[in-house]
Amino acid sequence: MSRSAIISDIHANLHALAAVMNDVQAEACTDVVCLGDVVGYNAYPKECLDYIRSLNCPIVKGNHDEEVARQDDTRMNPVARAAMEWTRSRLEPEDLTWLMRLQYQRMVNSSYMIVHSTLDQPRAWNYIMNANDAAANFNRQFKPLCLHGHTHVPRVFTWDGSHCSEHAEFIAELSANARTEIPLQDGLKYFINVGSVGQPRDGDIRASYGIYDSDRNSVTIKRIEYDVAAAQQAVLAAGLPEPLAERLGRGC
Ligand code: ZN
Repeated sequence: MSRSAIISDIHANLHALAAVMNDVQAEACTDVVCLGDVVGYNAYPKECLDYIRSLNCPIVKGNHDEEVARQDDTRMNPVARAAMEWTRSRLEPEDLTWLMRLQYQRMVNSSYMIVHSTLDQPRAWNYIMNANDAAANFNRQFKPLCLHGHTHVPRVFTWDGSHCSEHAEFIAELSANARTEIPLQDGLKYFINVGSVGQPRDGDIRASYGIYDSDRNSVTIKRIEYDVAAAQQAVLAAGLPEPLAERLGRGC
């Protein structure tokens, strides 16, 4: 049996990561899988990266992981760029090499796929906001389940062989109960965004992560409270741009 914790977009938020990992333990997860963007935006890139590396878990590359390692910030806005330069200064050259070598997508336990953005164009870093955006992904999804991140917003898409649907009912339940379980039905492909650990953008300031349970054949998404004020304080103390602290308090 496996019960995998699926964590994405940690973004150097150690307070959020610690709270999520406490919950992962309480949920008796058997292993951890990381969907990328370990670094960027927040105050603890080195600590978060060291922790994730210590897990030796399946992981894919996020756009921030790539940008920090590539040392080219020309495509970023000024706030993101300032954070990127600061982040790079905290990491060792060996960390950058490790990040650069991450794969864009991969299979986990020969059973499901993981990618940071989309399987059809994993290096284009497209943002999947609706069923229209999600449809092309399924051309490259060869397993019933693929888990992704990148938008920092939990979403559930399915493909029935001819068209793509978005399932807002699960997300409504997640908002109301801080938890939703998505049973994986035969005959459908699922492309599920588990949300962001370290910088949620759906107006809910709580950390988000997923649990894939192979016995139950379901994905559960959970919201976890953490010390947002402490994470904001750390961003400001590090001298990172103020909007990065502010957005943690608004969930955007
Ligand atoms: Zn991200």
